[in-house]
Amino acid sequence: MNYEPVIGLEVHVQLKTKSKMFCACSTEFGVEGNKNTCPVCLGWPGSLPVVNETALKLAIRAGLALNCKVAERLKFDRKNYFYPDLPKAYQISQYDMPVNGKGFVDVETQTTDHRLQTTAKNEKEQSEKQNSELLAPRSTLKRIGITRAHLEEDAGKLLHEGIADGSLVDYNRGGIPLLEIVSEPDLRSPQEAYDYLTALKAILQYIEVSDCDMEKGSLRCDANVSVRPVSQEKFGTKVEIKNLNSFKMVQKAIQYEIERQTGILEDKEAVIQETRLWEDKKGVTVSMRSKEEAHDYRYFPEPDLVPFTLSRKTVEEIKKTLPELPLERAKRFVKTFGISEYDAQVLCQEKKLAEYFEACVKEGAAAKSASNWIQSEILAILNEKNLSVENFPITAASTAGTIRLIEKGAISGKIAKEVYREMFETGKDAETIVKEKGLTQVSDTGLIEKAVEKAIAANPAAAQEFKAGKQKALGALVGFVMKETAGKANPKLVNEILINKLGTRS
Ligand code: ADP
Ligand code: MG
Ligand code: ZN
Repeated sequence: MNYEPVIGLEVHVQLKTKSKMFCACSTEFGVEGNKNTCPVCLGWPGSLPVVNETALKLAIRAGLALNCKVAERLKFDRKNYFYPDLPKAYQISQYDMPVNGKGFVDVETQTTDHRLQTTAKNEKEQSEKQNSELLAPRSTLKRIGITRAHLEEDAGKLLHEGIADGSLVDYNRGGIPLLEIVSEPDLRSPQEAYDYLTALKAILQYIEVSDCDMEKGSLRCDANVSVRPVSQEKFGTKVEIKNLNSFKMVQKAIQYEIERQTGILEDKEAVIQETRLWEDKKGVTVSMRSKEEAHDYRYFPEPDLVPFTLSRKTVEEIKKTLPELPLERAKRFVKTFGISEYDAQVLCQEKKLAEYFEACVKEGAAAKSASNWIQSEILAILNEKNLSVENFPITAASTAGTIRLIEKGAISGKIAKEVYREMFETGKDAETIVKEKGLTQVSDTGLIEKAVEKAIAANPAAAQEFKAGKQKALGALVGFVMKETAGKANPKLVNEILINKLGTRS
C-alpha cells in the first residue's frame, strides 16, 4: 500500500520591537541575564500589562502579507501552565479571537520526492526521473493555507549546560512579542515543508517584522506529521515534533517521522498521538509526552486586558505600507530582466540578494550574466565563508565591473573567477588585479581555444598532416592562432591546446 504524509507547521517568530509585548523592558539580545525584567514580565502580583502598539501593528502587517483576514475585534487570553521559565504560571496569548484569521501563502515548491517514489516503477526509472528533475529544476506554485496568526508573549530561558548544582533561568526573553503562525495541514512532503518555511521567512523578512534568525531563536518551528493510505480521505493520527533548530532539521525530522509512522501502519499497528523531540545527533525523534500527559491549558480571557476593536482605517494604513513581496518581485524579474522563473525565485528568496542583483544590473551588467554570477560565485563564497549578503565585501559595482570584463572578452570566465576570489580577499577591483597580474587575453585559455578551433577548421590539411605524425605541420596552425589573436596569445598555451585538440601528444 502507498502512504502519504500530511504535515502542518506551527511557526513562532519574534517581532522586531524595541520593548516587550506587555511592558517597557528592552528586547535587546545577548545582554546580562535578567537585566531586561520588571514586575510585569516577572509576574509580580498587582502589576498590569499594557499592549505594545508596535507589536500589534507588526502582527497586522504580517497578517496582511499572509493574506489573512484581520480581526475586527480581538482579545487576549491566559494559557495556564507551570514551568520555571514562566514566572506568572500563565502565558498571555490569543485563543478564540486572534488578530489574524484565515490566510494563505503561495509557495514555489520543487516537484516533490514522494511523488517520484510512487510513480516510478523501479529504482532505475526512479533515479533516471530524479536525474532529469535535477537537471531541470521544476517548481510548481502551491497554495498553503494559514489557519491563524496570533500574538503572544515568549517565555524565559532555562540554562542547564555547564552548571554543576542546578539550572539557571534568564527572564530577558520572557515577555518578548511572538507571532504564532499556524498552517493548515496542507503540506505533503518534507520538501514542501522546507519550501513553505523558506517562503514564509522571505515574506517576514521582506516586510521587516522579524529578523527570522533561527540561531538567535527569533524563528522557531514545530512540525505536525501524520501518515495515511493515499486512498484514504481521513487524516491519520498526528505527532508533534519539537526541538527543530533549522529548516534542514525540520525536513530531516519529518522524513524520519514519515518513515517511522509508515512502518507502524505497515505493521498494522496504531500511531500514538504524542509530542516527540528531534535528536539531531542520532537523527531520530523520541517520545516526549503522550496525549494523556498533554497540558490542559484552561484558557480564559485575560482579565487585565479588555477586548478591543481594531479600526479598518488602521488596517488600511498598514496595508498601504506593504512593500513588494518576494513572489511579486520574482515575477517582475522574469518580466523586466528576462531571466528564468527558477533564477528569479532563487534571487528573490532573500531581499538583500534581490537588491544586490538589481544593483548589478543598474551598474551595467547584463541581467542573465549577473544572475548566473550571483548564483554561482557569490552564493558559493557566502556559503563557504558563512557570510550574509549584507556582509559581503564586494560591491555590486565591482561585481558588475567583473562581469563587464568577461563580456568585453578582456578575460575569460575562468580567469574572472580567480580574479573575483582575489577581489574578495584583497578588496581590489577586477581591473586592477587583471592589470597587476597581466591576466589579459594572453593566458585566456577560452579565447585561445576558440582561435585554435578556427585554425584547425581553416587548415584541415595541416591538421591532417600533424595527426599523421608530421610535427612540422603544427607551425602553420600556431601561426594562424597568433595572427588571429593579434600576437597576444601565450605560445606555450597555444601549443598545448592545439596538441590536445588534435588528440596527439608529442
Ligand atoms: P492542537 O490542538 O494539537 O494544537 P491543531 O488542530 O491546532 O492541533 O493543529 C495544530 C497543527 O497541526 C496545525 O498546523 C495543523 O495544520 C496540524 N495538524 C492538524 N491535524 C493534523 C494531522 N492529522 N496531520 C498533520 N498535521 C495536522
Ligand atoms: Mg497547537
Ligand atoms: Zn518587563
